[in-house]
Amino acid sequence: MTPGAILTINAGSSSIKFSIYSAGEEPVERVRGEVEDIGDDAILEIGDHGGEKRRIGIGRVSHEAALTAILDHADDFLDGQAVTGIGHRVVHGGVDFARPVRLDDATIARLVELEPLAPLHQPHNLAAVRAARRAFPDAVQIACFDTAFHRAHPWVNDTFALPREWYDRGVRRYGFHGLSYEYVSGEIARIAPELQHGRVVIAHLGNGASMCAVRDGRSVASTMGFTALDGLPMGTRCGQLDPGVLLYMMDHEKMTSDQITDLLYRKSGLKGLSGMTNDMRELEASDRPEAAEAIDYFVFRIRRELGAMAASQGGIDALVFCGGIGENSALVRRKVCEGMEWLGIAIDETANAENALELATGKTRVMVIRTDEERVIARAVNAALNG
Ligand code: AMP
Repeated sequence: MTPGAILTINAGSSSIKFSIYSAGEEPVERVRGEVEDIGDDAILEIGDHGGEKRRIGIGRVSHEAALTAILDHADDFLDGQAVTGIGHRVVHGGVDFARPVRLDDATIARLVELEPLAPLHQPHNLAAVRAARRAFPDAVQIACFDTAFHRAHPWVNDTFALPREWYDRGVRRYGFHGLSYEYVSGEIARIAPELQHGRVVIAHLGNGASMCAVRDGRSVASTMGFTALDGLPMGTRCGQLDPGVLLYMMDHEKMTSDQITDLLYRKSGLKGLSGMTNDMRELEASDRPEAAEAIDYFVFRIRRELGAMAASQGGIDALVFCGGIGENSALVRRKVCEGMEWLGIAIDETANAENALELATGKTRVMVIRTDEERVIARAVNAALNG
Protein backbone atom coordinates (compact mmCIF):
# COMPACT_ATOMS: atom_id res chain seq x y z
CA MET A 1 0.00 0.00 0.00
CA THR A 2 1.28 3.53 -0.82
CA PRO A 3 1.83 5.44 2.41
CA GLY A 4 -0.37 8.52 2.80
CA ALA A 5 0.64 12.14 2.52
CA ILE A 6 0.93 14.69 5.33
CA LEU A 7 -0.13 18.30 4.86
CA THR A 8 1.29 20.93 7.22
CA ILE A 9 -0.50 24.23 7.59
CA ASN A 10 0.74 27.52 9.02
CA ALA A 11 -2.13 29.96 8.59
CA GLY A 12 -2.15 33.74 8.97
CA SER A 13 -4.95 36.24 8.39
CA SER A 14 -4.58 36.25 4.61
CA SER A 15 -2.00 33.56 3.93
CA ILE A 16 -1.43 29.84 4.34
CA LYS A 17 2.10 28.45 4.25
CA PHE A 18 2.01 24.73 3.58
CA SER A 19 4.10 21.71 2.78
CA ILE A 20 3.29 18.16 1.89
CA TYR A 21 5.32 15.13 2.92
CA SER A 22 5.09 11.44 2.20
CA ALA A 23 4.54 9.58 5.46
CA GLY A 24 7.07 6.91 6.36
CA GLU A 25 9.81 6.26 8.86
CA GLU A 26 10.94 9.91 8.44
CA PRO A 27 8.60 12.18 6.42
CA VAL A 28 9.92 13.03 2.93
CA GLU A 29 9.14 16.53 1.69
CA ARG A 30 7.39 16.60 -1.69
CA VAL A 31 5.82 20.04 -2.02
CA ARG A 32 6.15 23.44 -0.39
CA GLY A 33 4.31 26.66 -1.04
CA GLU A 34 2.09 29.46 0.11
CA VAL A 35 -1.28 30.96 -0.69
CA GLU A 36 -1.17 34.75 -0.40
CA ASP A 37 -3.94 37.35 -0.41
CA ILE A 38 -6.75 35.02 0.72
CA GLY A 39 -10.01 36.98 0.65
CA ASP A 40 -8.74 39.02 -2.28
CA ASP A 41 -7.28 37.80 -5.59
CA ALA A 42 -5.34 34.93 -4.07
CA ILE A 43 -2.11 33.57 -5.53
CA LEU A 44 -0.94 30.01 -4.97
CA GLU A 45 2.81 29.52 -5.09
CA ILE A 46 3.75 25.86 -5.27
CA GLY A 47 6.75 23.75 -6.18
CA ASP A 48 8.65 20.65 -5.23
CA HIS A 49 11.30 20.69 -2.53
CA GLY A 50 14.05 23.15 -3.46
CA GLY A 51 12.70 23.49 -7.02
CA GLU A 52 11.28 26.43 -8.91
CA LYS A 53 7.85 27.59 -7.76
CA ARG A 54 4.79 28.04 -10.00
CA ARG A 55 2.52 31.03 -9.30
CA ILE A 56 -1.14 30.43 -10.02
CA GLY A 57 -4.07 32.85 -9.59
CA ILE A 58 -6.88 31.05 -7.73
CA GLY A 59 -9.33 33.96 -7.46
CA ARG A 60 -11.23 35.23 -4.43
CA VAL A 61 -11.17 32.23 -2.10
CA SER A 62 -11.90 31.46 1.54
CA HIS A 63 -9.36 29.57 3.69
CA GLU A 64 -11.32 26.37 2.99
CA ALA A 65 -11.32 26.86 -0.79
CA ALA A 66 -7.62 27.76 -0.63
CA LEU A 67 -6.91 24.39 1.06
CA THR A 68 -8.83 22.54 -1.65
CA ALA A 69 -6.90 24.49 -4.32
CA ILE A 70 -3.61 23.52 -2.68
CA LEU A 71 -4.56 19.85 -2.85
CA ASP A 72 -5.80 20.09 -6.46
CA HIS A 73 -2.50 21.59 -7.60
CA ALA A 74 -0.37 19.37 -5.35
CA ASP A 75 -1.74 16.25 -7.07
CA ASP A 76 0.97 16.49 -9.75
CA PHE A 77 3.64 15.99 -7.09
CA LEU A 78 1.99 13.25 -5.05
CA ASP A 79 1.92 10.12 -7.25
CA GLY A 80 -1.66 9.40 -6.25
CA GLN A 81 -1.03 9.60 -2.50
CA ALA A 82 -4.04 10.82 -0.52
CA VAL A 83 -3.69 13.23 2.41
CA THR A 84 -4.27 11.13 5.52
CA GLY A 85 -2.83 13.49 8.12
CA ILE A 86 -2.86 17.26 8.61
CA GLY A 87 -0.65 19.15 11.06
CA HIS A 88 -1.46 22.68 12.13
CA ARG A 89 0.90 25.22 13.61
CA VAL A 90 -0.99 26.67 16.56
CA VAL A 91 0.85 29.46 18.31
CA HIS A 92 -0.58 29.11 21.83
CA GLY A 93 -1.10 25.91 23.76
CA GLY A 94 -1.48 27.61 27.15
CA VAL A 95 -0.61 25.74 30.35
CA ASP A 96 -2.09 22.42 29.31
CA PHE A 97 -0.59 21.49 25.96
CA ALA A 98 3.03 20.47 26.29
CA ARG A 99 2.99 18.20 23.23
CA PRO A 100 1.10 17.83 19.95
CA VAL A 101 -2.57 16.93 20.33
CA ARG A 102 -5.33 15.49 18.16
CA LEU A 103 -7.91 18.13 17.24
CA ASP A 104 -11.50 17.48 18.22
CA ASP A 105 -14.33 19.85 19.15
CA ALA A 106 -13.41 19.93 22.85
CA THR A 107 -9.72 20.67 22.17
CA ILE A 108 -10.58 23.40 19.69
CA ALA A 109 -12.89 25.02 22.27
CA ARG A 110 -9.98 25.12 24.77
CA LEU A 111 -7.70 26.65 22.14
CA VAL A 112 -10.27 29.33 21.32
CA GLU A 113 -10.05 30.46 24.97
CA LEU A 114 -6.37 31.26 24.34
CA GLU A 115 -7.09 33.62 21.44
CA PRO A 116 -6.66 36.79 23.54
CA LEU A 117 -3.11 35.64 24.37
CA ALA A 118 -2.09 35.60 20.69
CA PRO A 119 -4.55 37.87 18.90
CA LEU A 120 -2.41 38.24 15.79
CA HIS A 121 -2.03 34.49 15.21
CA GLN A 122 -4.34 32.16 17.17
CA PRO A 123 -7.70 33.12 15.57
CA HIS A 124 -6.25 32.55 12.08
CA ASN A 125 -4.60 29.26 13.12
CA LEU A 126 -7.96 28.02 14.37
CA ALA A 127 -9.88 29.30 11.33
CA ALA A 128 -7.63 27.09 9.23
CA VAL A 129 -8.21 24.14 11.58
CA ARG A 130 -11.97 24.47 11.07
CA ALA A 131 -11.55 24.84 7.31
CA ALA A 132 -9.29 21.79 7.11
CA ARG A 133 -11.69 19.67 9.16
CA ARG A 134 -14.49 20.57 6.76
CA ALA A 135 -12.36 20.02 3.66
CA PHE A 136 -10.75 16.74 4.89
CA PRO A 137 -13.14 15.16 7.40
CA ASP A 138 -11.39 11.77 7.24
CA ALA A 139 -7.82 12.99 7.83
CA VAL A 140 -6.13 12.82 11.25
CA GLN A 141 -5.69 16.44 12.40
CA ILE A 142 -2.97 17.40 14.86
CA ALA A 143 -2.10 20.74 16.50
CA CYS A 144 1.57 21.56 17.20
CA PHE A 145 2.24 24.43 19.59
CA ASP A 146 4.90 27.12 19.65
CA THR A 147 4.64 27.22 23.43
CA ALA A 148 5.06 23.47 24.05
CA PHE A 149 8.89 23.38 23.91
CA HIS A 150 9.03 25.79 26.87
CA ARG A 151 6.46 24.19 29.17
CA ALA A 152 9.05 22.51 31.39
CA HIS A 153 11.21 25.61 31.87
CA PRO A 154 12.03 26.54 35.49
CA TRP A 155 9.49 28.37 37.63
CA VAL A 156 11.65 31.52 37.85
CA ASN A 157 11.37 31.80 34.10
CA ASP A 158 7.70 30.84 34.10
CA THR A 159 6.36 33.51 36.44
CA PHE A 160 6.07 37.27 36.68
CA ALA A 161 6.45 39.05 40.03
CA LEU A 162 2.70 39.58 40.34
CA PRO A 163 0.54 38.32 43.23
CA ARG A 164 0.49 34.53 42.98
CA GLU A 165 -3.15 34.27 42.01
CA TRP A 166 -2.25 35.68 38.56
CA TYR A 167 0.10 32.78 37.94
CA ASP A 168 -2.70 30.37 38.81
CA ARG A 169 -4.97 32.28 36.42
CA GLY A 170 -2.52 31.56 33.58
CA VAL A 171 -0.61 34.84 33.48
CA ARG A 172 2.77 33.24 32.91
CA ARG A 173 5.77 33.39 30.65
CA TYR A 174 4.96 30.87 27.94
CA GLY A 175 7.68 31.47 25.36
CA PHE A 176 7.15 30.97 21.62
CA HIS A 177 8.98 29.81 18.45
CA GLY A 178 9.09 26.38 20.08
CA LEU A 179 8.75 24.46 16.81
CA SER A 180 11.84 26.23 15.50
CA TYR A 181 13.78 25.60 18.72
CA GLU A 182 12.78 21.95 18.67
CA TYR A 183 14.01 21.54 15.11
CA VAL A 184 17.28 23.40 15.69
CA SER A 185 17.97 21.52 18.95
CA GLY A 186 17.49 18.27 17.06
CA GLU A 187 19.91 19.42 14.39
CA ILE A 188 22.47 20.41 17.03
CA ALA A 189 22.20 16.94 18.56
CA ARG A 190 22.72 15.41 15.10
CA ILE A 191 25.52 17.70 13.83
CA ALA A 192 27.32 18.40 17.09
CA PRO A 193 26.40 15.70 19.65
CA GLU A 194 29.13 17.01 21.95
CA LEU A 195 26.93 20.11 22.48
CA GLN A 196 23.90 18.13 23.54
CA HIS A 197 24.54 18.68 27.24
CA GLY A 198 26.16 22.08 26.68
CA ARG A 199 24.96 25.62 27.34
CA VAL A 200 23.38 26.60 24.02
CA VAL A 201 21.69 29.87 23.06
CA ILE A 202 19.53 29.82 19.93
CA ALA A 203 18.62 33.16 18.32
CA HIS A 204 15.56 32.80 16.08
CA LEU A 205 15.73 36.08 14.16
CA GLY A 206 12.99 36.54 11.58
CA ASN A 207 9.98 38.77 11.26
CA GLY A 208 9.19 37.38 14.69
CA ALA A 209 12.30 37.17 16.86
CA SER A 210 13.25 35.56 20.14
CA MET A 211 16.11 33.82 21.88
CA CYS A 212 16.13 30.64 23.90
CA ALA A 213 18.66 29.09 26.26
CA VAL A 214 18.62 25.34 25.70
CA ARG A 215 20.16 22.58 27.79
CA ASP A 216 19.75 18.86 27.13
CA GLY A 217 17.37 19.68 24.29
CA ARG A 218 15.02 21.61 26.60
CA SER A 219 14.22 25.28 27.02
CA VAL A 220 15.59 26.80 30.21
CA ALA A 221 14.96 30.48 29.46
CA SER A 222 13.42 32.46 26.64
CA THR A 223 12.96 36.11 25.79
CA MET A 224 9.27 35.82 24.97
CA GLY A 225 6.68 35.91 27.70
CA PHE A 226 2.91 35.89 28.11
CA THR A 227 2.37 36.89 24.50
CA ALA A 228 4.62 36.99 21.44
CA LEU A 229 5.29 40.70 22.10
CA ASP A 230 8.01 40.45 24.74
CA GLY A 231 11.78 40.27 24.43
CA LEU A 232 13.54 41.28 21.23
CA PRO A 233 12.14 43.95 18.91
CA MET A 234 10.67 42.32 15.80
CA GLY A 235 9.56 43.25 12.30
CA THR A 236 6.51 45.13 13.52
CA ARG A 237 6.33 44.20 17.25
CA CYS A 238 7.91 46.29 19.98
CA GLY A 239 9.60 43.64 22.14
CA GLN A 240 10.26 44.37 25.82
CA LEU A 241 8.46 47.51 26.97
CA ASP A 242 8.05 49.14 30.36
CA PRO A 243 4.42 48.37 31.32
CA GLY A 244 4.22 51.97 32.54
CA VAL A 245 4.18 53.02 28.88
CA LEU A 246 0.86 51.20 28.47
CA LEU A 247 -0.61 52.92 31.54
CA TYR A 248 0.49 56.27 30.12
CA MET A 249 -1.05 55.51 26.72
CA MET A 250 -4.36 54.51 28.33
CA ASP A 251 -4.61 57.14 31.07
CA HIS A 252 -3.00 60.15 29.47
CA GLU A 253 -3.37 59.59 25.73
CA LYS A 254 -6.79 57.89 26.17
CA MET A 255 -5.88 55.18 23.67
CA THR A 256 -8.19 52.17 23.45
CA SER A 257 -6.92 48.61 23.79
CA ASP A 258 -7.52 48.10 20.05
CA GLN A 259 -5.34 51.11 19.24
CA ILE A 260 -2.60 49.94 21.59
CA THR A 261 -2.77 46.39 20.17
CA ASP A 262 -2.39 47.77 16.66
CA LEU A 263 0.52 49.97 17.72
CA LEU A 264 2.46 47.27 19.57
CA TYR A 265 1.84 44.37 17.17
CA ARG A 266 1.76 46.05 13.76
CA LYS A 267 3.43 49.45 13.84
CA SER A 268 6.43 49.06 16.14
CA GLY A 269 9.73 47.17 15.97
CA LEU A 270 11.98 47.64 12.95
CA LYS A 271 9.12 49.17 10.99
CA GLY A 272 8.23 51.71 13.66
CA LEU A 273 11.82 52.64 14.48
CA SER A 274 12.87 53.05 10.85
CA GLY A 275 9.61 54.67 9.75
CA MET A 276 10.14 52.60 6.58
CA THR A 277 9.83 48.85 6.59
CA ASN A 278 10.06 45.65 8.62
CA ASP A 279 12.17 44.03 5.89
CA MET A 280 15.79 43.67 7.04
CA ARG A 281 17.06 43.51 3.44
CA GLU A 282 15.59 46.94 2.72
CA LEU A 283 16.95 48.35 5.96
CA GLU A 284 20.43 47.06 5.17
CA ALA A 285 20.28 48.57 1.68
CA SER A 286 19.04 51.96 2.89
CA ASP A 287 21.33 54.92 3.58
CA ARG A 288 18.82 56.63 5.85
CA PRO A 289 20.06 57.07 9.44
CA GLU A 290 16.73 55.78 10.82
CA ALA A 291 17.31 52.45 9.03
CA ALA A 292 20.77 52.11 10.60
CA GLU A 293 19.37 53.06 14.02
CA ALA A 294 16.62 50.43 13.76
CA ILE A 295 19.27 47.77 13.02
CA ASP A 296 21.42 49.08 15.89
CA TYR A 297 18.50 48.79 18.33
CA PHE A 298 17.72 45.24 17.12
CA VAL A 299 21.37 44.22 17.57
CA PHE A 300 21.70 45.96 20.95
CA ARG A 301 18.76 44.02 22.37
CA ILE A 302 20.08 40.71 21.01
CA ARG A 303 23.46 41.38 22.65
CA ARG A 304 21.82 42.27 25.97
CA GLU A 305 19.79 39.07 25.95
CA LEU A 306 22.83 37.05 24.94
CA GLY A 307 24.63 38.31 28.05
CA ALA A 308 21.58 37.56 30.18
CA MET A 309 21.23 34.03 28.79
CA ALA A 310 24.92 33.30 29.27
CA ALA A 311 24.61 34.55 32.86
CA SER A 312 21.51 32.44 33.49
CA GLN A 313 23.38 29.29 32.40
CA GLY A 314 26.77 30.13 33.92
CA GLY A 315 28.37 30.59 30.49
CA ILE A 316 27.83 29.63 26.90
CA ASP A 317 29.16 26.81 24.71
CA ALA A 318 27.31 27.63 21.49
CA LEU A 319 25.39 30.46 19.86
CA VAL A 320 23.16 29.32 16.99
CA PHE A 321 21.48 31.68 14.52
CA CYS A 322 18.29 30.78 12.64
CA GLY A 323 15.25 32.48 11.04
CA GLY A 324 15.25 34.65 7.91
CA ILE A 325 17.62 37.25 9.40
CA GLY A 326 19.70 34.82 11.48
CA GLU A 327 20.28 32.55 8.48
CA ASN A 328 20.93 35.25 5.87
CA SER A 329 22.12 38.51 7.37
CA ALA A 330 25.91 38.50 7.69
CA LEU A 331 25.66 42.11 8.88
CA VAL A 332 23.41 41.33 11.86
CA ARG A 333 25.48 38.29 12.86
CA ARG A 334 28.71 40.31 12.64
CA LYS A 335 27.30 43.14 14.73
CA VAL A 336 25.92 40.72 17.33
CA CYS A 337 29.29 38.95 17.67
CA GLU A 338 31.53 42.03 17.61
CA GLY A 339 33.38 42.58 20.89
CA MET A 340 31.94 39.39 22.39
CA GLU A 341 35.35 37.78 23.04
CA TRP A 342 34.54 37.96 26.77
CA LEU A 343 32.00 35.21 26.05
CA GLY A 344 34.49 33.33 23.86
CA ILE A 345 32.60 34.49 20.77
CA ALA A 346 34.58 35.45 17.65
CA ILE A 347 33.69 34.66 14.05
CA ASP A 348 35.41 34.23 10.71
CA GLU A 349 34.38 36.97 8.26
CA THR A 350 34.49 34.78 5.16
CA ALA A 351 32.44 31.98 6.72
CA ASN A 352 30.00 34.59 7.98
CA ALA A 353 29.63 36.18 4.54
CA GLU A 354 28.85 32.71 3.12
CA ASN A 355 26.19 31.90 5.79
CA ALA A 356 28.33 28.85 6.59
CA LEU A 357 27.30 26.28 9.19
CA GLU A 358 30.29 26.98 11.46
CA LEU A 359 31.50 30.55 12.03
CA ALA A 360 33.58 30.40 15.20
CA THR A 361 37.24 31.26 15.56
CA GLY A 362 36.93 31.50 19.37
CA LYS A 363 36.18 28.79 21.93
CA THR A 364 32.40 29.25 21.79
CA ARG A 365 30.81 27.48 18.83
CA VAL A 366 28.86 29.88 16.55
CA MET A 367 26.58 28.20 14.02
CA VAL A 368 23.97 29.00 11.36
CA ILE A 369 21.26 26.34 11.12
CA ARG A 370 18.35 26.62 8.70
CA THR A 371 15.24 26.06 10.74
CA ASP A 372 12.33 23.92 9.49
CA GLU A 373 9.20 24.27 11.59
CA GLU A 374 7.15 22.37 8.99
CA ARG A 375 9.26 19.27 9.43
CA VAL A 376 8.61 19.28 13.18
CA ILE A 377 4.87 19.37 12.45
CA ALA A 378 5.17 16.66 9.80
CA ARG A 379 7.06 14.42 12.26
CA ALA A 380 4.30 14.84 14.85
CA VAL A 381 1.61 13.88 12.33
CA ASN A 382 3.75 11.01 11.07
CA ALA A 383 4.05 9.69 14.64
CA ALA A 384 0.27 9.93 15.08
CA LEU A 385 -0.34 8.10 11.79
CA ASN A 386 2.09 5.38 12.84
CA GLY A 387 0.20 5.02 16.12
P1 AMP B 1 11.27 35.01 8.47
O1 AMP B 1 10.15 35.62 9.26
O2 AMP B 1 12.03 33.98 9.24
O3 AMP B 1 10.85 34.54 7.11
O4 AMP B 1 12.34 36.18 8.20
C1 AMP B 1 11.99 37.33 7.50
C2 AMP B 1 13.11 38.36 7.67
O5 AMP B 1 14.33 37.82 7.14
C3 AMP B 1 12.84 39.66 6.92
O6 AMP B 1 13.18 40.78 7.73
C4 AMP B 1 13.81 39.57 5.76
O7 AMP B 1 14.21 40.84 5.32
C5 AMP B 1 14.97 38.84 6.40
N1 AMP B 1 15.88 38.31 5.39
C6 AMP B 1 15.64 37.34 4.47
N2 AMP B 1 16.71 37.21 3.64
C7 AMP B 1 17.64 38.11 4.05
C8 AMP B 1 18.96 38.48 3.61
N3 AMP B 1 19.53 37.88 2.57
N4 AMP B 1 19.61 39.46 4.28
C9 AMP B 1 19.03 40.08 5.32
N5 AMP B 1 17.80 39.79 5.79
C10 AMP B 1 17.10 38.82 5.17
